[in-house]
Amino acid sequence: MKSEEVTTMQSATHPALNRTHRVLILGGTGEASQLAARLSERLDLTVISSLAGRVEQPAMPAGIVRTGGFGGVLGLTEYLTMQRIDAVIDTTHPFAAKISSHAELACKQTRVPLIAFERPAWTPQPGDRWVQVPDVESAAVLVNDPNNRVFLSVGRQELTRFSECRNAWFLIRTINQPTVPLPQKSKLILSRGPFHLDEERLLLWQEAITHIVSKNSGGAATYAKIQAARELEIEVIMVERPSIARTNPCTDIDEVYLRLEELLAGHPALQLEPTETTRL
Ligand code: NAP
Repeated sequence: MKSEEVTTMQSATHPALNRTHRVLILGGTGEASQLAARLSERLDLTVISSLAGRVEQPAMPAGIVRTGGFGGVLGLTEYLTMQRIDAVIDTTHPFAAKISSHAELACKQTRVPLIAFERPAWTPQPGDRWVQVPDVESAAVLVNDPNNRVFLSVGRQELTRFSECRNAWFLIRTINQPTVPLPQKSKLILSRGPFHLDEERLLLWQEAITHIVSKNSGGAATYAKIQAARELEIEVIMVERPSIARTNPCTDIDEVYLRLEELLAGHPALQLEPTETTRL
């Protein structure tokens, strides 16, 4: 995909731009947007968020936003060098394994410091009826039974695994219109989270759902369906996370922020220069 760059809150011609440290946020998650909003308020930083471009009309993070793949590790390495990036923050989705490993390799090669964030996974609570499976393919095999009414909210990239499921009935929820064939017996709803417990409970009950297939994404934005399933005693086929070699990841955004501050304060190459405001 061709990459594009737009600026929301920070201007490319901001007078402080040439003096600031340039931070690349690998984004596409709520946490990445929160972090971009927080960091963009600082005059000493230029914040660039990178989105994969999977979602049409995404909520745009504050700061500069570029969209589309870099072109593998080599492309990312070149980008870090050409754009004079001082630090990379990996706040990508827990299932986005490729971009995280590319970030590790590219940062090692360019010696650009990397701060990784990993949203904690959900864990089963009393009353939960979870079957944990290693991948979406296994989930598709498991639920494809004529007695099952399955709620699928795994993202449209993964729907292709269910295209050939002819036995079960599916309620499919995606943000944008899927581009792959849907299972023969299915109903589609287009909707963007966060989703609330009352709505989720009603939806599962109205559609007489017997099973949910969910990725173990963690976080609050999509957890309501898991809570509703617990209340309604619905089985959840929980797809485990791919193993991602993130080095020493932070588990909340405050920790990421603090680690960046430490990095900026302690790293000789990243010492903060006085900004227009601090000089006064
Ligand atoms: P991926 O497998 O890690 O990445 C595939 C390629 O997409 C990367 O190699 C990279 O292309 C590009 N890419 C991914 N994230 C990028 C970013 N933030 N900025 C620029 N390029 C990026 O991730 P995925 O294919 O997007 O998704 C894998 C799983 O994660 C799916 O289950 C999906 O539902 C879930 N997920 C992803 C996102 C997201 O924003 N990516 C959000 C929610 C859920 P190049 O190699 O060309 O650089």
